[in-house]
Amino acid sequence: MKSCYRHLSSQATDTRPWASIWNLSVPPKVRMFGWQLAASYLPTRDALLTRHVDWQLAASYLPTRDALLTRHVDCNIICHMCREESESAHHLFVACREALVARRKLGLLITHVAGDTVGEWLFNCIAVLSHDQMSKLLMLCWGLWTARNDVVWNAQSWDLELMLRRTMVFWENWGAAQCVDGGQQTGGTLGRWERPRRGRLKLNTDASVDKQHGRVGFGWVLRDDDGRFRAAKNGRMMGLFRAREAEAMCMREALSWLKDTGMGNVEAETYSQLLCNAIHSESFFSSFGFLVGDIKELASSINDVEFRFIKRSANQVAHTLARAAVSMPDCGWWFDVPPFFLVTCLMI
Ligand SMILES: [Zn+2]
Repeated sequence: MKSCYRHLSSQATDTRPWASIWNLSVPPKVRMFGWQLAASYLPTRDALLTRHVDWQLAASYLPTRDALLTRHVDCNIICHMCREESESAHHLFVACREALVARRKLGLLITHVAGDTVGEWLFNCIAVLSHDQMSKLLMLCWGLWTARNDVVWNAQSWDLELMLRRTMVFWENWGAAQCVDGGQQTGGTLGRWERPRRGRLKLNTDASVDKQHGRVGFGWVLRDDDGRFRAAKNGRMMGLFRAREAEAMCMREALSWLKDTGMGNVEAETYSQLLCNAIHSESFFSSFGFLVGDIKELASSINDVEFRFIKRSANQVAHTLARAAVSMPDCGWWFDVPPFFLVTCLMI
């Protein structure tokens, strides 16, 4: 690890966007793997043989077939996925047709992105992909590497679908755990709505995208620690937005409204895991990133706001409000007495 940090400090004069790798929304060990990948520190056969990477240094990172070669153990160095080309970092992560299929299945359409080394390719990808896409790409590379090691070291057979499933489930579980840890209270299963802690308020937000009419409905509801209805508001906005942007805009509007009321001590909930992850992450640059930046800034001007991720089933009231905003003629706001259409779901 020492050499890793030494290398990191030498990156101070490096103009490549190393921070973009460190800030990706992936588990720490995947981030570390991303650094190794970008720095071409994965001791694949090409790395050892053509770059004269010191064996000891390589061994301190990841054990590979090259390790066997160095120990004069005869082993197959053909790519375990396509079984056609010899293994190199560039082949494993960039050129192999199996890696290509995996990227296509995840909607990562980057066939136009090239690079002589895997590190160069990775930095070129950062330039064209969004934060989420890049996080997904790094997760995929990590999944490919893990599966490759399972084949080499644990005699497992290569299964692309299984690799994708395992990798994405691991990523989702990590994301969900981040959100739960982000709040100070885990709130049981989070499958149904729960009252906020004593003396606090709970703000549930939701957005509903109406693709057919090109508009988005917003809704939020505020309840106290006895579960009593305090206020609600809904509204709509013309324009087509992706779900995560719509959820972020809704949270921004809700916080802006909350700020105007002067109330604080709030637990703000969304069922968008992506949004919750983003709020708890470092900032990044994209239209979504700017929305998240607004949310953080608003939250800092309100006394004590916590963000939590909840399941859709626990967010039913806000969901009903958002749906009503796109399907009913009038939007509005309500204090103390809820609108008629909310009464039934408030009792659940
Ligand atoms: Zn291959």
